[in-house]
Amino acid sequence: MSDLVQIEKHEGGGDNLPHEPACAASNFSGQDRPTWDLYSTCIHCGLCLNHCPTYRTLGTEMDSPRGRIYQVLQVDEGRLPIAESFVTHIDRCLGCVACETACPSGVQYGRIVERARAQIETHYKRPMIERFVRWVFYEKLLKDFHRLAQAARLLRFYQESSLQRWVRKSRVLKLLGVEDVERLSPHIDPDFFFEEIGMLIPASGEVRGRVGFHAGCIANVAFSRLNYATVRLLSMNGVEVYVTPRQRCCGALHSHAGYREDARKLARKNIDTFLDGSQHYDAIVTNAAGCGSTLKEYDDLLADDPQYAERAREFTSKVKDVTEFIAGLGMREPQKKLSGKFTYQDPCHLAHAQKVRSAPRELLKAAGAEIVELPHWDQCCGSAGTYNVAQNELSMKILDAKMDDVRAVSASISTVVTANVGCMLQLRAGMERANLNLPVKHVIEVLNECYF
Ligand code: SF4
Ligand code: SF4
Repeated sequence: MSDLVQIEKHEGGGDNLPHEPACAASNFSGQDRPTWDLYSTCIHCGLCLNHCPTYRTLGTEMDSPRGRIYQVLQVDEGRLPIAESFVTHIDRCLGCVACETACPSGVQYGRIVERARAQIETHYKRPMIERFVRWVFYEKLLKDFHRLAQAARLLRFYQESSLQRWVRKSRVLKLLGVEDVERLSPHIDPDFFFEEIGMLIPASGEVRGRVGFHAGCIANVAFSRLNYATVRLLSMNGVEVYVTPRQRCCGALHSHAGYREDARKLARKNIDTFLDGSQHYDAIVTNAAGCGSTLKEYDDLLADDPQYAERAREFTSKVKDVTEFIAGLGMREPQKKLSGKFTYQDPCHLAHAQKVRSAPRELLKAAGAEIVELPHWDQCCGSAGTYNVAQNELSMKILDAKMDDVRAVSASISTVVTANVGCMLQLRAGMERANLNLPVKHVIEVLNECYF
């Protein structure tokens, strides 16, 4: 029986909606389970299908939002085990939540898939090598900035010595099948931003606001220049920036990978330090869309924690993407204007998860940029956190579709601009794959050029 025929059993609204499953038969368990309240809002209309990058690429119902929701229902009813098939289709989801933007029924798909992933990590044993790689990355590196810095120094040595050139010239990467993955590894900056954690950067001129800056985790080693540019731009706009001490990774990568308990622990630590009462912030600001969307979901993550639920709501209410914050404040007249045409790639975790689309465009236009819109603005570039490594082949197909869109406007633009570090890495790799020679920059880097 085809995937589509199976799903049609539950198509249609009203009386045809699936019944609430009996908990005893469910293959889900514990706090982080996709609940009936979440997935029963899907009326199986299929309007999300053509907005889903994995459905557009693979053409299979089970790799669409509707198909994945159906599988979640099946597992919750005890009719589908948490086994290879379920894991494959859930793993293939980018978590881009383009389906949420398209959905007329308000399905909170992101919450469903994150909980499904938490169930997978509880009930399914991944192959040993995968478990080991995940343990090193999520447990040992992201949670410990000291260890992350050590690993970054090693990677920088590899990149800056002749070792990387030698390895790339040899056929080793091709033989191991990791040529694309190696190309996606972030370039490590010479100065790490860890040194700035705990520093107060004064406002330039009249003080117009005060923010706590969340600097990310990998961004501190691979995008430290972007972090410096972010605090400079805020300062130039009259904002005092406190790079809040004792801050930790936001937990986005943990949460997206199914480690919601780890994400909760990180969230509590960030709440403790950002809301310790010693500072007043107008906003908690980030320059990474992926981090921002998770920081804005701490209220959901800690909803059942009696000690933290209220403070999580307070924290969430203060989080702003840096473009959102500066656009709300009103950007000061830049010293020089941008010239040329730019295209802006909407990061999914900004456009779909946070519904922030106009702020980056407004700032670029205020700085003099002319924006040429990309076709298929709602389509993911295939980066999606660690997706481009874990699902490399599919990610590259999705990237190639994005590069076709970039090619369509390439003759009339000078730069591709985006607002998320993961998208920057992915699009730069895409330029190489597509033989396009356009710089890819963060909107904050472009705006910095107008002030300095
Ligand atoms: S658009 Fe929404 S309601 Fe319709 S199938 Fe997709 S998720 Fe379900
Ligand atoms: S989150 Fe993205 S990849 Fe996943 S089902 Fe929704 S649109 Fe498709």
